[in-house]
Amino acid sequence: MNNKPNIRSFSLEELSGFFVEHNEKAFRAKQVYEWLWKKNARTFDEMTNLSKDLRAFLDQHFSIPHIQIRYFQRSTDGTIKNAVGLKDNLVVESVLIPTAKRTTACVSSQVGCALDCKFCATARLKNMRNLTPDEIVDQVVEADLQSKEYYGHPLSNIVFMGMGEPLLNYNNVMSAIEKITSDKALGMSPKRITISTSGIPKFIRKMADDNAKVGLAVSLHAAIDEVRTRIMPVNQRQGGLKMLLSALQYWYGKTKSRITFEYLVFKGINDDEKSIKALVDYCKKVPSKVNLIEYNQIDDTDIFQQAADHVIAAYQKALSDAGIIVTVRRSKGQDIDAACGQLANKFE
Ligand code: SAH
Repeated sequence: MNNKPNIRSFSLEELSGFFVEHNEKAFRAKQVYEWLWKKNARTFDEMTNLSKDLRAFLDQHFSIPHIQIRYFQRSTDGTIKNAVGLKDNLVVESVLIPTAKRTTACVSSQVGCALDCKFCATARLKNMRNLTPDEIVDQVVEADLQSKEYYGHPLSNIVFMGMGEPLLNYNNVMSAIEKITSDKALGMSPKRITISTSGIPKFIRKMADDNAKVGLAVSLHAAIDEVRTRIMPVNQRQGGLKMLLSALQYWYGKTKSRITFEYLVFKGINDDEKSIKALVDYCKKVPSKVNLIEYNQIDDTDIFQQAADHVIAAYQKALSDAGIIVTVRRSKGQDIDAACGQLANKFE
């Protein structure tokens, strides 16, 4: 690793300041910024509208680190999983999920995860650090290149459902989203981005205050405090379902954007009438829809099991009878451990 500062850690304003300080025209900073964020340059030499001297000068002062795809797997259903090497040699995973017309990138926000969700493989890894904005953007850039190469169309959607809790890396995730959506950088629509969170009330409110235009998904998995805390200890630490609800109501009040609840149904844990009723009641309190997601076994030591089909059907019926939109989502990429909750750097 070299010690030159990462040029992609500076904002356009900061770069402009640097240029002016060094007797360069401020508009050069804009050109460099476009090379970095729009044209995805990996070296200063590629920046052909700058003089050779300026390119050499920048090269003396800055580095342009970029993630490296260390390992790549393709599932029989077309799903792609990448092991992404970072500048300090740590690794995260990112996934591409193709459908006929769309490709969704599932990106990571942290190396490991500090939460301790009992059913998630990432929870078994040590929480190492937050990803930087450029490391998050790079996952999107790579996903877009792969989507074009393997599926024949550009990336269409992004979900923050990879490793880590995006709202516990709030500033870097928002700064990455700013770059992904800015027309000075990638220019994607924020409507095509979804933040998935275990539910951190303080940052859900902040996201609403900051006028984030992205979709919000909450990993609910239980609408009874005692049950939710048992499988997601973060529930208790963050003040329980009531605090979460009030943050979600705040979010809806400000954004008018309906919340998606992600919900796993486990045998012997939340597969009873009481759990179903609690979920219906919770959903009635804030405009929301429910994604019943298929549980992916982590490994043979896993104590969790997906509930029986008739229980899923009972959830579906109770929710739709109450006028709540509900979908059942089948998992993809299980054969390569690329499905939700299976990201655990197993290749290492
Ligand atoms: N920390 C964020 C994002 C990462 S998890 C969050 O909690 O939302 C992405 C989604 O996968 C969450 O809904 C999570 O609850 C779910 N998930 C975790 N482990 C899973 C597993 N083994 N099978 C299916 N989904 C799982």
